Amino acid sequence: MPGSLVTIVGGGLAGCEAAWQLASRGVRVTLHEMRPVRPTAVHRTDRLAELVCSNSFRSDKLDNAVGLLKEEMRRLGSLVMRAADHTRVPAGAALAVDRERFAELVTQSIETHLLIAVRRDEITAIPPASPAGPVILATGPLTSDALAEEIAALVGHRQLSFYDAISPIVLADSIDQGRVFRASRWGRSAGAPGVGRDAAAAAGSAPAQAQPDDGGAPELTRGADEGDYLNCPLTEDEYRRFYEALVAAERAEVHDFERATFFEGCLPIEVLAHRGIDTLRFGPMKPVGLIDPRTGRRPYAVVQLRQDNLAGDHFSLVGFQTQITRGEQQRVLRLIPGLERAEFVRFGMVHRNTYINAPVVLDDTWRVKGREGLLIAGQVSGVEGYVESAASGLLAGLSAAALVSGGTPSAPPRTTAAGALAYYVSHADPRHYEPTNVTFGIIEPLAGLDRRLTRDRVARNRALSARALADLGNWVG
Ligand SMILES: Cc1cc2nc3c(=O)[nH]c(=O)nc-3n(C[C@H](O)[C@H](O)[C@H](O)COP(=O)(O)OP(=O)(O)OC[C@H]3O[C@@H](n4cnc5c(N)ncnc54)[C@H](O)[C@@H]3O)c2cc1C
Repeated sequence: MPGSLVTIVGGGLAGCEAAWQLASRGVRVTLHEMRPVRPTAVHRTDRLAELVCSNSFRSDKLDNAVGLLKEEMRRLGSLVMRAADHTRVPAGAALAVDRERFAELVTQSIETHLLIAVRRDEITAIPPASPAGPVILATGPLTSDALAEEIAALVGHRQLSFYDAISPIVLADSIDQGRVFRASRWGRSAGAPGVGRDAAAAAGSAPAQAQPDDGGAPELTRGADEGDYLNCPLTEDEYRRFYEALVAAERAEVHDFERATFFEGCLPIEVLAHRGIDTLRFGPMKPVGLIDPRTGRRPYAVVQLRQDNLAGDHFSLVGFQTQITRGEQQRVLRLIPGLERAEFVRFGMVHRNTYINAPVVLDDTWRVKGREGLLIAGQVSGVEGYVESAASGLLAGLSAAALVSGGTPSAPPRTTAAGALAYYVSHADPRHYEPTNVTFGIIEPLAGLDRRLTRDRVARNRALSARALADLGNWVG
């Protein structure tokens, strides 16, 4: 675009959010997206902001850190949140979206904005950057090889790749409705505090595999017979049969990667199973908060299925990332009651995740230290997850807007989820850096807690959120 001031590479969640923030402030942007000219191994469409795996943005409650981060983004005029709110589908306490409509809405908003020019090309070298003409790299976990090499050259040996794995999706019609029951955990369609990867991490719970978003309060009520999830109940015998088949299942060959290192919050089910027979029962197959209406009792274990599209004909297996072969997925997952005749729309798989050692490379405004005008945002900047990636794009967009107007970028206060994420990324221990979800654990604690707040985690989290939103308001002001 003639007179374009900011160049953004990557039209995913982070790149689109950054472009939107800049254009909303009157700054001209050129956004480079390589699809469809050059596809990735995982994206299926040419749309911007395509969600490659789950359709969930996790908890939408203010007693959950990712719920707080989303609310902060809304208050900062986030395009991703606006599109997500417009295209949401039922998902209990979580915000899940119709992935097609979500990507369509973001694409349309970006492509029709008068100040944004979208170029469909692969960028293979880091474009020249300056404070007057900033560049934001937001090429995600599947950054193309040529650019990944450039980034490696920029940051030295600290650019890393590791494995991650995604859950299968089945056709609703192929689920045996006579065997499954519909319920949200704790009988609540909304309102339960979420157990994100974040809550599990904050609670230091083991095993680390957490349900992405399905609520996790202490037992409050029986599971209702209405709810947002389909639940496949397993007896002890069924669970053992499934477990034994899973640990014996053949794993898919892992090709071009050297190291099998998984993000703890996204472990494949077979990796969890190898940790012990009960690990799945306390992780993605935990039955707590669910009562099978046919028996009136809590099942021994449960597999939850969440609606994956607005039409309601696709359901994903919650927390069932896997890297066993497709044939083995059909055989083993059909041992789950209700899925005996399941037809798979998508199989679980292994993928690459490329990210930098952020505390070495970035400051808390997502700028590369020592490289004037160059910013890195999104998953490649060392955050984990849709919401965190979009939030980092939002903040990088604000920083770039400050630079082009001759100002100095600043980070939101560390009492906010967005500020805490920026601080973590730029200040965590670089010797053990892992991409992170937002958690209350990284937000500055409340001073002088009274007794009630010390004991009551939900009340404490709500108090942290109230302070965060007030502080964000002051920062924006
Ligand atoms: C298989 C897989 C499953 C995942 N599952 C989940 C999940 O369930 N939940 C979750 O929260 N997160 C998940 N993630 C992480 C998820 O990718 C990120 O949370 C989020 O998509 C990151 O947003 P982003 O904008 O940083 O990257 P992306 O959304 O990947 O966007 C980056 C864009 O840059 C483009 N690009 C890459 N290289 C170039 C180049 N050289 N030139 C031009 N364009 C380029 C890509 O085509 C892409 O469109 C998953 C990641 C993968 C790979």
